[in-house]
Amino acid sequence: MLNNETARQMAENVARIRERMAEAARAAGRDPGEILLCAACKTRTVEEVCASARLPIDLFGENHVQELVEKSEAGAYGGKPAHFIGHLQTNKVNKVVGRAALIESVDSERLLQKIDRAAEALGLRQDILIEVNIGGEASKSGVDAEGLWALLEAAAACGHLRLRGLMAIPPADAAPDETRRFFASMRGLLEQAAARGYENARMDTLSMGMSGDYPLAIEEGATIVRIGTAIYGARDYTRSH
Ligand SMILES: *Cc1c(COP(=O)(O)O)cnc(C)c1O
Repeated sequence: MLNNETARQMAENVARIRERMAEAARAAGRDPGEILLCAACKTRTVEEVCASARLPIDLFGENHVQELVEKSEAGAYGGKPAHFIGHLQTNKVNKVVGRAALIESVDSERLLQKIDRAAEALGLRQDILIEVNIGGEASKSGVDAEGLWALLEAAAACGHLRLRGLMAIPPADAAPDETRRFFASMRGLLEQAAARGYENARMDTLSMGMSGDYPLAIEEGATIVRIGTAIYGARDYTRSH
């Protein structure tokens, strides 16, 4: 069991985040009910995730396949969906398809094809987002804005995928007005993509915004914000896989 102080702190954090989410939505003339809170729970224990699942969190986000498998098998998500939000290696696709309600980080045609085949083998349709490297950073995963259109075409041609939209992580060192422009560009890309009317698509999802910038992301159109530190506190990477 988690100690009471930690559980109380987490409840307070989530309540505060929900308030700020609602404020940002109202400031942008949006319905707060259309924005989902994803708890980014990499490195967090089963106990921590279990305790957070009782709070008003909509879903969980995992970066590592092993953590997704362990926590889902332990029932840590309390029946809430889990999304895969980290870099996915093609040789681990089979453990994620069907287990993650949405794979948010698809950034190559090779990965697309692997996911499509795994979904076919399980007789299901896997929801995916395409991750865009919106800041054009060499160190980041995600497809660049030029490669996006070819990847969307390829995804639309996969009969066992359902394309739901886009995900991005803007550069960590960007100033707030620059971050806002990155978020606004993502919204522009989603709108353009939706206008193309792809097959096997329902382009209704824009996953962007983390602990430091989620109100901005909501003002610019995010439908999922992925928040870790502001819910659970600082991460201890010695516990990660
Ligand atoms: C860790 C992580 C987050 C959350 O980051 P915080 O700054 O802790 O809120 C969001 N998205 C992805 C893809 C992550 O890896």
